[in-house]
Amino acid sequence: MEVLILGGGVVGVTTAYQLLKDGHKVLVIDRLPPGIGGASYGNAGLIATGHSIAWGSPKALKIWFNSLFHKDPVFRMKFQADPQFIRWGLKFLFQCSEYKAKRNSLAKHRISSYSQKKLKEVVEETNIQYEQNVNGLIYLYRNSQALAASSSHVRLLQEIGQTLETVEKERVLEIVPELRDSKDQIAGGVFSPTDESGDSKIFTEQLMECCRGMGGTFESGVTIERLEASGTRIKRVVTNRGVFTADNYVLCLGAWSPLLVRTSLGVRISVCPVKGYSITIPVEKGHTPPRIGGLHEEDLLGFAPMGNHFRVSSVSEFTGYDIGHTPEDFEHILSTSKKLFPNAGNYDKAQFWSGFRPMTPEGTPILGKERHSNLFYNTGHGHLGWTMSCGTARITADLIAGKTPEISTELMGVR
Ligand SMILES: Cc1cc2nc3c(=O)[nH]c(=O)nc-3n(C[C@H](O)[C@H](O)[C@H](O)COP(=O)(O)OP(=O)(O)OC[C@H]3O[C@@H](n4cnc5c(N)ncnc54)[C@H](O)[C@@H]3O)c2cc1C
Repeated sequence: MEVLILGGGVVGVTTAYQLLKDGHKVLVIDRLPPGIGGASYGNAGLIATGHSIAWGSPKALKIWFNSLFHKDPVFRMKFQADPQFIRWGLKFLFQCSEYKAKRNSLAKHRISSYSQKKLKEVVEETNIQYEQNVNGLIYLYRNSQALAASSSHVRLLQEIGQTLETVEKERVLEIVPELRDSKDQIAGGVFSPTDESGDSKIFTEQLMECCRGMGGTFESGVTIERLEASGTRIKRVVTNRGVFTADNYVLCLGAWSPLLVRTSLGVRISVCPVKGYSITIPVEKGHTPPRIGGLHEEDLLGFAPMGNHFRVSSVSEFTGYDIGHTPEDFEHILSTSKKLFPNAGNYDKAQFWSGFRPMTPEGTPILGKERHSNLFYNTGHGHLGWTMSCGTARITADLIAGKTPEISTELMGVR
């Protein structure tokens, strides 16, 4: 079968790989070279199965409300009189009960855990190198009350088999000795020994090369303008470089996915661009970045060592599709990172980036079909798209093959 994949981020390229394994003829189109054009480029790099916790919760309600009236360095909300944003916001508020927070977290964990297994298989099959670090992740807390309050999340994931260890400050410093100079910033943490990290841009580029070796084709410089349907089938994709046709189509446009299907097909999917920022710091002789990645919880600061560079990201900003950034946008990341990891790298040579997390209100991705029988959705992976990509790719390939996926996709339908 001929399959046309729309979007060459980590989700599009992992999907290409699984479809090629199944023997399909695959073409991926993107306006930029794969791995460059979206969130897969500069994310924090965490494969954070042990942190598959839904954003929507009773606590989130308070944070949202406060951010409308107070300046918060981490969570920034610009009210938008856009019906799409309002609809998404209402759906998100509807997810903020204890019951739904638990249900959504379990679904997120189900797909993340499956995806981590599929990632392992992909790496074994291809032997690709992407600064992978499989020594676990540490989730740090500055405040001991906040650490104590994390126990309900920890228990929830432990009960379904995730290995998580709540640790005191001294044990944190044994696990990450590079934090010794900033130990006053830490009360303790949660260690997740099976989590991992890696550079998703390098992974995407390397996997693309493997896909090419398997017969896959990638075309960049192709801006998708619209989909055209006839009845319940997609007939063609219209781009700046002409018309593309295939038997099946897979939508992997990350945060831009809802724009295309709404304007072309009148289909509304709940994906909101949630902007985040990252800095990439060169690691030179004498620098001591942390040996494993993780997250500083109160500052929402994700970090990961990636060979000769160190990546730090933070901030969740609701600001529409404005991808630009100013030096002030990085003040929080830079100051917090320097406090925690003063000798991690050469901060004077930091590179700055911003991107969109394609968030659904539930936090689970959008998979499967809507009304068009040959259009498959694989989008809306939110803040864990790198973590979930290999799993949703396999599920999409199974759905295209007419097979039942290996895990339940409940809460992951088109919505
Ligand atoms: C700051 C930040 C930190 C993050 N940290 C982590 C993390 O630690 N762990 C984790 O698991 N996830 C993390 N994420 C989330 C993760 O990066 C995303 O969920 C994931 O990269 C989404 O992949 P994607 O392929 O769906 O989308 P993208 O990578 O955004 O790719 C979409 C592609 O579509 C293309 N495109 C869009 N519109 C068009 C068009 N009209 N025509 C042609 N091409 C088009 C773009 O060029 C792009 O290449 C983070 C995200 C951010 C922003």
